[in-house]
Amino acid sequence: MKRVGHGKGFREAKTQLSHIGRAPAEHGGMVNVPVYRGSTIISETLEEWERRKQNPITNYGRFGSPLSRALEAAFCELEGGHGSILFPSGLSACSHALLGIVKAGDHVLISDSVYGPVRIFADQVLTRFEVKVEYFHPTQHSDLLAKIGANTRAVYLESPGSMTFEVQDLPTLCAIAHHSGALVIMDNTWATPLYFKPFEHGVDISVHAATKYIVGHSDALLGIATANEQAWPLLQPSAHHFGEIGGPDDIYLALRGLRTLAVRMGQHYENALKLAQSLQQHPAVDRVLHPGLPNDPGHKIWKRDFLGASGLFGLVLKPMSKAQLSVFFSQLRLFKIGWSWGGYESLVLPVEQPKRTETIFSLNGPLIRIHAGIEAASDLIADMHQALQAACELRVSRADHEHH
Ligand SMILES: *Cc1c(COP(=O)(O)O)cnc(C)c1O
Repeated sequence: MKRVGHGKGFREAKTQLSHIGRAPAEHGGMVNVPVYRGSTIISETLEEWERRKQNPITNYGRFGSPLSRALEAAFCELEGGHGSILFPSGLSACSHALLGIVKAGDHVLISDSVYGPVRIFADQVLTRFEVKVEYFHPTQHSDLLAKIGANTRAVYLESPGSMTFEVQDLPTLCAIAHHSGALVIMDNTWATPLYFKPFEHGVDISVHAATKYIVGHSDALLGIATANEQAWPLLQPSAHHFGEIGGPDDIYLALRGLRTLAVRMGQHYENALKLAQSLQQHPAVDRVLHPGLPNDPGHKIWKRDFLGASGLFGLVLKPMSKAQLSVFFSQLRLFKIGWSWGGYESLVLPVEQPKRTETIFSLNGPLIRIHAGIEAASDLIADMHQALQAACELRVSRADHEHH
């Protein structure tokens, strides 16, 4: 297994990102691959038509365009896979990776801290096709070992976990899966191909919400799945047979976003870690869920396997009233409330108790997901602290009020 040092990997990727997935000589010298809009691809001769029919991707727009193939090729190179394919959303990449692998009667094991909509898809759709769906403890590999069987076809991982940020021991989990003959799908959206190399750790299919850091500006939805040589013949038809295809403008925005991925990720990494460190010191904070913090339970594995961290982490506050929480959210000036993440902007999300069936995730107070954008770290820290202060002062003023 090749280990790439953080600095080295980072510098190489920066250079790579400027050059992969484009071919000016093929597009009139234009720096960027233009937007191709098209359904029909015409042939001038019977011979050309017959030649194109040999390879579906050259004969109809539903199978892609020079633009979609440029993004797929660039992404595949970054991840170190055998082939990449685009989907119209991140969730579509997740669900079709599973659909490409399983058949009726198969068993699927999914990490308990998986992205919520994947759990809903597995519970409500896969089960209708008689696929048995089971969940396992994200950080206890003995639980995977106990539940895996001869009919387990797929093991689905996500690291760190959705909302709760547990870091998974990917090499160990992949070894257990492969020993039983199962394929491993991993959601690598959080780390991006820059900070986690899925195929070096045993993953067979990596899925991404390109909507997040690849697009990077909250202005398009797109999914990408990448497979190793073994899984590619299962993954690619799963897009083609279902008629999945991204829109040309969204693909263009994703390829444009990819150019600045390394500089943006560097800033998200630094901002989130600084913010997480400063929040750890605040008296209103119970826990900060960020694997880059040395006291995080996932820190050791994160340090061993990851090359960096993104802007997304969790914050557990000490118990506070709904009124105080409301003050906290409304006092924030730079962090707005919203789904999704990975854009340049900072976000917060009030999280309900995340759905878990195999893990007990006990919360002492409100859980908040934070996305640190690419603003100045000092401004983000100041904003978060003034809003927490305002929430704390409400408690003080209420207590004063009751006293007098
Ligand atoms: C957002 C997200 C998805 C789904 O992406 P969409 O483009 O919103 O469908 C999948 N996995 C993870 C980890 C995500 O954060």
